[in-house]
Amino acid sequence: MRETESWEKCPKCIVNDEKDYRLKLKAADDKYGHITAKEYKDLVASIPQPGGVVPAFRGVSSIEIISGMLEISFKGICNTCGFEFKYEKSIDMLKE
Ligand SMILES: [Zn+2]
Repeated sequence: MRETESWEKCPKCIVNDEKDYRLKLKAADDKYGHITAKEYKDLVASIPQPGGVVPAFRGVSSIEIISGMLEISFKGICNTCGFEFKYEKSIDMLKE
């Protein structure tokens, strides 16, 4: 079986990254009016923009034909958050 390895940005990390950004922005907004304008501006500027997710999702895929069946498989795991995804499908090529 020939497998192909790829490193991608984890879909869950991308969602978490955006959620984290919104939470930090909300926390800064809650302080608005309680801290000086400069402190507020500096606080907002210190929040990292979303989009800094690194390709930590390792995927291994294979596609092959065994006795007329197209065998597709993919499995991946994220080194950052531990998200796992697995997909397997056998397709009878003569019936599709
Ligand atoms: Zn992840």
